[in-house]
Amino acid sequence: MSGAILVISGPSGCGKSSLLSELFKHGGNYYFSISTTTRAIRDGEKEGVDYYYITKDEFEQGIKEGQFLEYAKVHDNYYGTSLKPVLSALSEGKLVIFDIDVQGHAIVKQKFSDITTSLFITTPTKEILKQRLIKRATDSMDVIEHRLKNAKYEMARIHEYEYLLINDDFDKSYQKFCSIIDATRLKISSGEIDKFIQNW
Ligand code: ADP
Ligand code: 5GP
Repeated sequence: MSGAILVISGPSGCGKSSLLSELFKHGGNYYFSISTTTRAIRDGEKEGVDYYYITKDEFEQGIKEGQFLEYAKVHDNYYGTSLKPVLSALSEGKLVIFDIDVQGHAIVKQKFSDITTSLFITTPTKEILKQRLIKRATDSMDVIEHRLKNAKYEMARIHEYEYLLINDDFDKSYQKFCSIIDATRLKISSGEIDKFIQNW
């Protein structure tokens, strides 16, 4: 496999999707892993673009059948990454990008340690995160409070990541984000370097 993986995590509302959609506007040899979830579709989201939306029973059937590379319960809903498309994107040499939570990151890191780079994104303060979630206006106040509570647990695991991006000014953050993407591509994996040394 000649591809690489970038795992992006961070509290809901920190700006992961915004940074990723800016990146995808400019093209590139990326594969964004579209997760499957049991959470309700939000206004403006599309099936097969943001997520694949399925029922809890269907998700649990998928778990039994071993369809997921990883899955986790986040904010009381299931979220999971399908294995097959990820393996085929890696075999095509793509940079596979995951927007998954801290639990999912731990599993991916364990399974693909050699080719995985990790990035944690957050806001300068919890108050700014709250303001962004309110301004986004996609969740009820109850859901927002739940997400803010969960953010505290996610923040406590920042040290498990290689890069930290504090998404304050968007344009400056996007520049830093692109630098991390470049560094991820330049990272050496032991499988590839052995081949390179032999042929050199
Ligand atoms: P996530 O994907 O991490 O849940 P989003 O990308 O949906 O977060 O961003 C949450 C909200 O914050 C959106 O309304 C988005 O437009 C806004 N946002 C993202 N980055 C910034 C930033 N640097 N400054 C101000 N608002 C931002
Ligand atoms: P949201 O409901 O805001 O789209 O996502 C909530 C959280 O679920 C985010 O932290 C996001 O990174 C995480 N998430 C999305 N897809 C997956 C997945 O496939 N696996 C895991 N473990 N987490 C996911």
